Amino acid sequence: MGQVKITFYGGVGEIGGNKILVEDKGYDVRLLLDFGKSFKIASQYYQFPIDYPSSLDELLDLGAIPQIENLYTREFLARRNGDVGGEEEPPVDACLISHAHMDHAQYISLLNRKIPVYVSECSYSILTAADQIWRTRLETNFSGIKFEVFKNGQKIKVGNLEIKALYVDHSIPGASAFILYTSEGPLAYTGDFRLHGTFETLTSAFIDALRMEEKIIALIFESTSIFRSRMQSERNVEDSAGILASACRGLVIADFSSTDFFRFQTFYKVARKCGREIVITERFAKIVEAINQYPEYRWPGLRSSGDIRIIPDAQRRERWREEMRRRFPDLYINWDEVRKNPQKYIFCTSYNSVRDLRTIKPEPGSIYILSSSEPFNEERELAFEKLLNWLEKLNVPMYRIHASGHATPHEIQQLVHETRPKVIIPIHTEYPAVIAGFLQGLSEKSLIPEKGITYEIQ
Ligand SMILES: [Zn+2]
Repeated sequence: MGQVKITFYGGVGEIGGNKILVEDKGYDVRLLLDFGKSFKIASQYYQFPIDYPSSLDELLDLGAIPQIENLYTREFLARRNGDVGGEEEPPVDACLISHAHMDHAQYISLLNRKIPVYVSECSYSILTAADQIWRTRLETNFSGIKFEVFKNGQKIKVGNLEIKALYVDHSIPGASAFILYTSEGPLAYTGDFRLHGTFETLTSAFIDALRMEEKIIALIFESTSIFRSRMQSERNVEDSAGILASACRGLVIADFSSTDFFRFQTFYKVARKCGREIVITERFAKIVEAINQYPEYRWPGLRSSGDIRIIPDAQRRERWREEMRRRFPDLYINWDEVRKNPQKYIFCTSYNSVRDLRTIKPEPGSIYILSSSEPFNEERELAFEKLLNWLEKLNVPMYRIHASGHATPHEIQQLVHETRPKVIIPIHTEYPAVIAGFLQGLSEKSLIPEKGITYEIQ
């Protein structure tokens, strides 16, 4: 007994930044579940997007990443003393990434390059595109990583430990949950998931698979939406946005994450119904193209649909931009065209929307649809305030139409009720005690982990 231990180095008491170390003495295996960036710590110490961490040591000092010997690449540590030897033997056997959101994946850029990093096919493509678009010296720098790519349902072997990767529905394609068949029994990790999106059947299939297990020793699950859940599905978004876009006599500006391909599909459907074309920035197009590689996400493709337009979003000459311009010259339009004929288009933007808004200076009658999560930290709050100021200046009203990427409390209840794990471990939330209390009686025990403490699971 006591062969399995878990340590949470992030994602506890905060939304995202998941970094979970699982050690199975019985099988002599140590692995990491996710290795994401903590937006909480980042927003405390850095002003996005003009200020980035300057060294790995700085991140260690801030507690943004754990102090574990030989866990990190010499590439970044070596700069201190000019030593550029090969990587040391790593202290973990593998890192499994649940999905390509940066609060789960970004800090793989810091890891020892001898550690194999397991990602789903689609996560791999998104991370590769992100590496080209957003690379800084330390962050989103995925060069030299030994990626191991898996498909839905695939069994992964790390030493003697067997793991099953099962896709779930989230606001990014390629999200996966994992079942680890430890020497003490199955241990499950949901990553981020929901039961009200385009691919909710994936999540249902994951729950079904868990139900077949004899006794789940522990279930680690996200609990992001405790106080802000809405009963809104992707289908609701399509209906509401459709009504607005049809009534709009100017430009429709839709604000959502470029990696939320399902939301992109939704707005594409809306555009078709009301006779508009979709306009996306180059960065956005690069991500869409990466996701388009997979049969289940081929629609709408940049080329196939003929009603997607790309707009240059920077003057910088980067190789990937030149390549986009060379490959899709006929899809490109300029800002002038959008300004002249706003009623012809739905312009998709994300986060950087203030700059885009100033460039467009939308005509009277235009609307702004905020279709992403509410600002969840002070920094985003400030950015949001500036967005509102600009909308006021430009006389553009805002609507909020959104279906969350995260499970509602009742979806979490369904997961726990149907799978009956021995121990429940809520993470990825500021309110773990609330969800644990809400779920009381559905498991033998609940564990509210603290950062850096090691827990025995049996
Ligand atoms: Zn997350």
